[in-house]
Amino acid sequence: MHINEISLTNYRNYEKLHLNFDHKINVIIGENAQGKTNLMESIYVLAFTKSHRTARDKELIKWDEDYAKIEGSIVKRNRSFPLEVILSNKGKKAKFNHIEQKKLSNYIGAFNVVMFAPEDLNLVKGSPQERRRFIDMEIGQIQPIYVYHLGQFQKVLKQRNALLKDYQRKIEMDRTMLRVLTEQLIEHAAIIIEKRFQFLRLLRSWAKPIHQGISRDLEQLEIAYDVSVDVSEDMDLSKIVKVLEQQFQAIETREIERGSTLVGPHRDDLIFYVNEKEVQRYGSQGQQRTTALSLKLAEIELIHKEVGEYPVLLLDDVLSELDDHRQSHLLNTIQGKVQTFVSTTSVDGIEHETLKQAEMFYVQQGA
Ligand code: ATP
Ligand code: MG
Repeated sequence: MHINEISLTNYRNYEKLHLNFDHKINVIIGENAQGKTNLMESIYVLAFTKSHRTARDKELIKWDEDYAKIEGSIVKRNRSFPLEVILSNKGKKAKFNHIEQKKLSNYIGAFNVVMFAPEDLNLVKGSPQERRRFIDMEIGQIQPIYVYHLGQFQKVLKQRNALLKDYQRKIEMDRTMLRVLTEQLIEHAAIIIEKRFQFLRLLRSWAKPIHQGISRDLEQLEIAYDVSVDVSEDMDLSKIVKVLEQQFQAIETREIERGSTLVGPHRDDLIFYVNEKEVQRYGSQGQQRTTALSLKLAEIELIHKEVGEYPVLLLDDVLSELDDHRQSHLLNTIQGKVQTFVSTTSVDGIEHETLKQAEMFYVQQGA
């Protein structure tokens, strides 16, 4: 799939902007602080209705304005569809084919985007929260129902934690309410865990050979799901539910003492190993970068396999961070099949054939 055109109104430092894109490669060139990332980010927001770099939508609205609008036209299975995201102080609206989608889980997934930005290094060395965010976003764009379960899980988790605090302070003593919430929590938690297992199985099968290719057969990548409950990959949904029920029963008193939910998908993590050593702990900068790159390239293939079309790839400020070998590996992989956006501060160093055929966009102060 690809994006044909975009129109921005009051988005970050763009008051008004309309661009038509090349189906293959687009290079965004500009000095620092001109609006390169903002433009890439707007494409990402059009897909996910939220930014990759902030959870606060308000920051995306141009200063002193009260709304921001992103309109785009995407081509999927040879048909074009208009998309629209409007952000305002009153909340956000997302329209697919001119029709507002009340549930964002119905909107997300229509347009598939993979972003690779400097922050993605945090995927490997950052907090567990960032790795959870990564899998949640990725599964969500392949299986929109996941977004629904995740939202429900978070809602129940919040209620349950508030109730556990009340028990801790002895404000509330009747445990019936807690058990009702536990049951609801388990229902969504089990599905989330099952889908994460399935996703990781797929991610692993793509990422391992890719990593081997980038590292010229020197490195073996392994990905483990560090799950906070006693479940394993071979369990089906009903078995996962059973294990969760037993575990929540066993720790009920301890949860009340602590006043919070101690196990569940909100406590899980991913662990990456290169040649059997944890990359988070022992990996060099380059190994961390290669791991992040392998995951991103695997994601592209995975989306292609699950959705039937390649996603749009956004490479913000990352090409210059990769050595020549990794750069060409990346560009050779995507060549011709993935619509790609590359941002850079200068055209020096863009020697690769692929980039020479690109459509160039020069950005200066939001124009
Ligand atoms: P770099 O090469 O340093 O990464 P960039 O071209 O990617 O630069 P952007 O991150 O796109 O730069 O930011 C461009 C400008 O947008 C910055 O000067 C920033 O202050 C401004 N900006 C950010 N948010 C808003 C906003 N809500 N309203 C107006 N301007 C904003
Ligand atoms: Mg930038």
